Amino acid sequence: MEKFTVDGVVIKTSVTGEADRIVWVLTRDRGVIRAFAKGARGTKNRLHGGTSLFCYCDFTFSEKNNVYNINEALVKEVFFDLRKSMEILTLSQYFCEVIMKCVPDKCDEEIYLRLLLNSFHFLAKGNRNPLLVKSVFELRLSCIAGYMPSLIACDNCSEYETDIMYFNCADGRLFCKNCGRGMAVPEVGVAVISAMRHICFSDFSKIFSFELQENSLKTLNRLTESYLKASLGQDFSLLRYFDGIKD
Ligand SMILES: [Zn+2]
Repeated sequence: MEKFTVDGVVIKTSVTGEADRIVWVLTRDRGVIRAFAKGARGTKNRLHGGTSLFCYCDFTFSEKNNVYNINEALVKEVFFDLRKSMEILTLSQYFCEVIMKCVPDKCDEEIYLRLLLNSFHFLAKGNRNPLLVKSVFELRLSCIAGYMPSLIACDNCSEYETDIMYFNCADGRLFCKNCGRGMAVPEVGVAVISAMRHICFSDFSKIFSFELQENSLKTLNRLTESYLKASLGQDFSLLRYFDGIKD
């Protein structure tokens, strides 16, 4: 039996047995681990708090024949404020669902955990527009997962920037005003293109640091969402629910 300790966030839970939980933890350097938490549904059980959805803990796991159990869960951050509204809660659950779909097995890259923790942090604190957090999460995650859009210049003539550009969500190609005219792809203002370049190319510590006017932010959201869905070849039912409740 192997025993190890690693930090991670609970991204999904389900119930089993009389009082047990199955939890899926996005860990720092072992991908997503599915593990049993014995007795964790009992409110007085020592694993109860730490194995709840969105909890960030130092987890001690034991593993035998690819079956994992959680022995300890030392809470580092509860992210209670992710439950403060249906909008924030739904968005947080959507982030978790996307992570479940795109983190490779036994992935040792900590960038997935850092992106999720940062996104949770800004959603919980409420100091960024939730749509901005959503777009940063979607687009930077696409890049991390190997789907970096080609935003450096027009795909056809290499023009860096025109006041209107065209972005093809299906394949991540960008076109200038002249080359893109008449194409059946969305027309995008330069502010949105700048924001997309910022999310893809800037240092990780700065990706949430930009501002956009509301209309541009809505456009950015449509693009990053479509692009992520096209890249992963997945739809997410929570998005339709989110569209129905967001302000
Ligand atoms: Zn061009």
